Amino acid sequence: MTDHLDSSLADDGLVRALPDTLASKIAAGEVVQRPANAVKELVENSLDAGATNVELTVQRAGSELIQVTDNGCGMGSRDAVACFGRHATSKLREFEDLETLRTLGFRGEALASIAAVSRTELTTRRAQDEAAFRVRIHGGDFVESGPSGAPVGTTIAVRDLFYNVPARRAFLRTPATEFKHIVETFQALALSHPDVGFCLVHDGTEVYRLPATDALADRVADLFGDRYRGELVPVEEQTSYLSVRGVVGTPDVARRSRGDQYLFANGRYVKSRSLEHAAARAYGAMLPDGSYPFLALFLDVDPRHLDVNVHPTKTEVKFDDERGVYSFIGAVVKKGLAEAGLALDLAQTAPDGPSLPAIPMTPPPREATGDGSAALPPLPEMPPAGPSFTIGDSDTSLPSNATLPRARSGGPARRPDPHPFRPLPDAPLGPIPSRAAQPEMRPEAAELADVVEAPERVVWPFRVRYLLSPIASGLLVVDQRAAHERVLYEKALAALDGGLGASQQLLFPFSLALPPDDRALLEELLPELRALGFDLALQKSAVEVRGVPSDVSRGDEKTALRDLLDRYRRNSDVLQLTSRENLARSLARRSALGEGQLLQPAEAKVLIEQLFACDDPFTDPSGRPTMVRIAESEIEQRFG
Ligand code: ADP
Ligand code: MG
Repeated sequence: MTDHLDSSLADDGLVRALPDTLASKIAAGEVVQRPANAVKELVENSLDAGATNVELTVQRAGSELIQVTDNGCGMGSRDAVACFGRHATSKLREFEDLETLRTLGFRGEALASIAAVSRTELTTRRAQDEAAFRVRIHGGDFVESGPSGAPVGTTIAVRDLFYNVPARRAFLRTPATEFKHIVETFQALALSHPDVGFCLVHDGTEVYRLPATDALADRVADLFGDRYRGELVPVEEQTSYLSVRGVVGTPDVARRSRGDQYLFANGRYVKSRSLEHAAARAYGAMLPDGSYPFLALFLDVDPRHLDVNVHPTKTEVKFDDERGVYSFIGAVVKKGLAEAGLALDLAQTAPDGPSLPAIPMTPPPREATGDGSAALPPLPEMPPAGPSFTIGDSDTSLPSNATLPRARSGGPARRPDPHPFRPLPDAPLGPIPSRAAQPEMRPEAAELADVVEAPERVVWPFRVRYLLSPIASGLLVVDQRAAHERVLYEKALAALDGGLGASQQLLFPFSLALPPDDRALLEELLPELRALGFDLALQKSAVEVRGVPSDVSRGDEKTALRDLLDRYRRNSDVLQLTSRENLARSLARRSALGEGQLLQPAEAKVLIEQLFACDDPFTDPSGRPTMVRIAESEIEQRFG
């Protein structure tokens, strides 16, 4: 975590502009997409300022008011003005700091960006000052400043967010949705600093009042409910590379959604699908099918080992030794569970499973591999926690629908698999099946692990439709079209949420004539289409297409928009989908690989890696499987 600004050193003039060269090195990006982003930036500033108490007040889900009051170090009058300058930050001096800075999320851009799209008032006072100082900025323009009365600390009130950016304002979701994002942001921030008191008031109602505490478990229970009391297991371990501490939930408080998985890298909330997976995998068969453990894990690492997505509203994180960190997290969680007496359950439910592996307390040594990259030895195998895919025989001469027993059958008792592999008809888009609706179609976490971890993935194209890839437990058969559709779908959803879909500019923009109904639809979807990466200029009865999403393949640019609108319309006739869902599905479907498209081995590998980075890699957006696994034991049995 960063040092907060030491007020005794704080001669006024702490906040300085980044040198131009540095400023230009920082990827331009918009910090504030929605109220929750502003909340995050303001509260992080309070925490950086050493506050021990932070109060957040919002009105109308943040669109009317977002106000953060802290008792941190405050600013002098010069800094109170300077902090609104672009790239104004007190948190770095030297170019060498850029990496460190970026990974900790300091860009000196937040206040400037927020003030540019709102009416902002800052009131701040340092301990050594007689009075507070107040600055008002509207739409980025200085309005007034002067002395004011206030206690030591800082209050920033952000009113009428996006009042001068109607397009952004129109792009906001319902107040309920925006407030949900604010609450999630608040929860992550409050969890990251149990030693700081927090309070959240929405439209005059106190939503949270969280006393400062030494005990992370208390903060968890205060935030998420009393059912967590007594259900949290402490974990802690360190090596020279990484230290991990925190709490993980017992299986009793596991949830059926991923929501409750909090990872913090150097004090900042981050997301890492692979580390969440590492932790979940450590539970083995203890975790009910399709559920996710509660996690609040704090990782501390030299920032140079971290790669946080450069965009400030994104939180994806990668470590330079991702595999080492993966196995370390798994080992740490496993050890915590074992110490809490929970490993016993594992041994009981999976008598034929392997015993708990010894825990490497330092990242396992690297082994040189042929290609010069380093690989870590594979993790010991966990018993699969639930039913796995089986292969049937709809087109072989073996007994019909034979479902072969599996050799490794740890975990709870299981029924024969009622869903043998069969070719799937090219069904129309259907509703998205819930996780519960199709439990048999999903390999469990433990199985995903050996896919994700395959150190040197081999992929063979088969019949210009499937990809075959050996994995530790057998053979994976991936439907390339379904896989690609899933990847594109999640990408589109992310673009719609973040408004940042990658776009390719057309060398020759063209105009597309639009009948009135198409024009109305286009107008309605314009913000979303832009978010997806379309660069469009709407005209009276036409639209000029200047850019298309970068996933649109070459030669396809002219038809992409038309086709997308048609699909969107068709889907909305048949299915109950939100426009977000509908657009993402339509775009994914139309841009996905055709069945006859031959992939180069390198492309096939990339596709499989991308698939496993998805939230839900196992089905395409309409619920058909993207892959089946043929267990090695089945292959063996078939050969007698
Ligand atoms: P960054 O946090 O990346 O430095 P910001 O635009 O968020 O950039 O803030 C600019 C500067 O304003 C900070 O570096 C800090 O010096 C000052 N500042 C912002 N908020 C506060 C606060 N609540 N208390 C004290 N100083 C603050
Ligand atoms: Mg900041």
